[in-house]
Amino acid sequence: MSIATVVGRLHRLPLGFTLLVAPLLGAQQSTGASMPGYSAAAVASERALEADAIARPDPARARAHSRTLSAETHVSGTPAQARTRDYVIAQMKAMGLETEVRQYDVFLPLPTAVHVWRVSPGMKELPLAEPPVAGDPTSALAQYPTVNGYSGQGDVTADVVYVNYGLIEDYAQLDSLGISVKGKIAVARYGRSFRGIKAREAEKHGAAALLIYSDPQDDGYVRGDVYPNGPMRNRNGVQRGSVFNGDGDPATPGYAAKPGEPRIPESRMGVPLIPVVPISYGNASELLEGLRGHEIPQSWQGGLPFRYHVGPGPVRARVQVTDDRATKGTKPIYDTFGFVRGSEFPDELVIVGGHRDAWGPGTADNVSGTVSVLEAARAVADAIKAGHRPKRTIVFATWDAEEWGLLGSTEYVEDDSLRLMRGGVAYLNQDVAAQGARFGGGGSPSLRPTLRDIAREVPDPNGKGSVYAEWRRASAVADTAEPAMGDPGGGSDFAGFYNHLGMPIAEWGFGGPGGVYHSQYDDFNWMSKFGDPGFVYHAAAAKIAAGMVLRLANAEIIPYDYVEFARTMQRYLPAIDRALASHQWNASTAALRAAIGGMEQEAASFSAARDDALAAGTLPRERQAAVNTALLGVERALARPEGLRTRPWFRNLIYVADENNGYANMVFPSVNEAIRANDERLTTSEIADLAQRFEAATRAIASARAALR
Ligand SMILES: [Zn+2]
Repeated sequence: MSIATVVGRLHRLPLGFTLLVAPLLGAQQSTGASMPGYSAAAVASERALEADAIARPDPARARAHSRTLSAETHVSGTPAQARTRDYVIAQMKAMGLETEVRQYDVFLPLPTAVHVWRVSPGMKELPLAEPPVAGDPTSALAQYPTVNGYSGQGDVTADVVYVNYGLIEDYAQLDSLGISVKGKIAVARYGRSFRGIKAREAEKHGAAALLIYSDPQDDGYVRGDVYPNGPMRNRNGVQRGSVFNGDGDPATPGYAAKPGEPRIPESRMGVPLIPVVPISYGNASELLEGLRGHEIPQSWQGGLPFRYHVGPGPVRARVQVTDDRATKGTKPIYDTFGFVRGSEFPDELVIVGGHRDAWGPGTADNVSGTVSVLEAARAVADAIKAGHRPKRTIVFATWDAEEWGLLGSTEYVEDDSLRLMRGGVAYLNQDVAAQGARFGGGGSPSLRPTLRDIAREVPDPNGKGSVYAEWRRASAVADTAEPAMGDPGGGSDFAGFYNHLGMPIAEWGFGGPGGVYHSQYDDFNWMSKFGDPGFVYHAAAAKIAAGMVLRLANAEIIPYDYVEFARTMQRYLPAIDRALASHQWNASTAALRAAIGGMEQEAASFSAARDDALAAGTLPRERQAAVNTALLGVERALARPEGLRTRPWFRNLIYVADENNGYANMVFPSVNEAIRANDERLTTSEIADLAQRFEAATRAIASARAALR
C-alpha cells in the first residue's frame, strides 16, 4: 500500500484509493504558541530544530540518490539488491549514524523461464518482455521476467476464458452464464482487487493458469498519453507483482525467518499452485480479440478497440513458467537500519522506513521512498550535530522483499516484537513517496493531527504555501473540515507494526498520474520527465519525515490524539447499525457506542490535563516516563492477542484489508466479518469484545492522566 493521487495503495493498486468522509477538525491544532506534548519552554527550541531539519533535504541530492538506486533492476534475492543494501548502509555510516543489517532467509523462488503462446488461431509466441523505448537508456537494461511473484510452475495448453477482473462476483456471473474456467486459461484484467485474490479465485475455480493484463481503461491510453510521450502505460507495459495473499515469509508464518528455525512445507504456504503471468494489453489483444462465445455483461467491456467476449475459445493458449525453487528456493533478504540513540528514553522507538526492493529500476516504487528515508536521515543527523540529541531513539529503516508480501518488515516485526510492543512509539511508512505533486496522507487517527501539523511547517514545492495549505486547496474541503486521510488497511510495510502489533502508524507521499507501476519503465527517465522532474517532491516527503520523527522523538508527552481517534471511530457505527437492521437482528451497538464515547471523554480530559501540566512547566522525567508508558498501551489494547478469527496474525481490531479483496479496507473487522458470516451470536459477542477493548484503551488513557499528577 502507499499513496496515489490522494491516498491509495500504490504497492498494490496505483489508481484506487480509499476516501472516507473528512473528519471534523481534530482536538489539537497547534499554533505558534503551543505544541501538544511539549512544555511552553520547550516549544521554541523544538520549532527551531524542526525548521533547521526541514530546510535540509535537498532535491539535487535526492536526484543523485534516485539515479544511483534506480540504475538497475533490483529484485529481492539478486546481487543488484545486495548493492542497494550496501549503498544505503554506506550513506548512513557517512552521516554518522549507527547502522545494522538484519538478514532473513525466506522462500523466494525466482523464475528461470516464462513463455506464452497463442496456439490457435495461428501459432504465435507472444513477446513478453518490455522493449526499450527511444530516449530512455534504462529501458534497455536487463529486466525481471514477466512472472508474478510466487506464481506456480507449469506448462499448460487450453482454451482461453475472459473473467473480467477475476473477482468473486465475476466468477458468480460466469456460473450464472453456465461458463466454467475449469482446466482453462483465465485472462483477467488488473484492478478492483489485489492480484493475489485474482490468483486465489482462479485457482479455486479450477483454472489451469491465469494471465493478468493491464487494460488501457485502467492506466493506459484511455487515461492519458502513454510512455514515452506521456506518463501512462503503453501497449507493451507490464505490471509485475506478487500473488501471495499472506504477510511475511510464506515458510515461517508468525515467526522470524532466522537460520535454524523450522520451515513449513510448500504445500502449506498458501502460495498459488498454478502459473500466473502478467501481460501487456498488446499481448492481451492477441488473445481477447478472437474470443467468441457468450456476449459479455456490458460492464465487462474494457478499453481495447474491439468487442470483448467471454469464450471459452476458440482461442487457445499455452503458458509455461519455471523457477529455481527445486535447487535454491530459499534466499537471503536484508533490512537496513540507521539510528540515533535517544538521550532520555532510548528504549522508545520512532521508526521511519520504506522498502528498498522493486520489480524493475523502481524509481517511484520504491526508490522514491528510500530516498525520502535517506534524506530525512541526513537532515536529522546534521540538525542534531548542534547538540540536540533526540529524547527517543530514531530509526531509519529500509526493508527488503516488500514486493513479495511485506517480507522484510514482517520478519523484522516478528524478530523484534517484544521490543516493539514495549517501546514502539510510531512507525512512519514511505512507499512511493514521490511520483507527482499531489499530497496524500493517512494512518492511525491518533497520529493524523501531528502529520497535519508538520505539513503546515513544510513549504509546498509549488511555492504557493505550505504542503498543508496546498493539500486543503486541492481537496476543496469546507473550512470546518480537514482533508480526508487514508485508513491503514494493509498492503505495505506498516502492516506488521499496525495489524500485528497495534502500533500507531502514519504514511504520506505525493502522487500523480502514472501507468508504469511495477514496469521496467518505472525508471529515472520516467521520473525525470513526468513524475517529479525537479525531485522537489522527493525532498518535500523527506522534509515531512524529518519533522515527524523529531516531533515524536522529542515530545515530553507523546502527542497521540485520542480525541480525534475516538471521533473517527464513532463515524463507523451507523454502517454497523444499518447492517444489523437489514438482518433484523437484536444485536446492538449500544455498548460499543458507549465505550467509544467514554474514550472520547477520557481523551479530552487527558489532553486538557496534559496541556495544563505542561503549561506550568516540564514534568520530572519519571513522570513523563509513566505517562508515556500508559499512552503506549492505548492502541495495543485494541489489538487482540488471538487475532481475528479468520486470520490470527491480524490482531488489530480497528482496520484491516478485506480478505475478499485485498485492497478495500475493513473497519472493525472482528465485528464486520461476523456480520458477513451471517452469524448473529458471533456478531453480538464480537461487539461486546470490541467494546471491552475500547474500555481497556480508555483505562490506559485514564492511567496516563493519573500519572500526570
Ligand atoms: Zn511499493
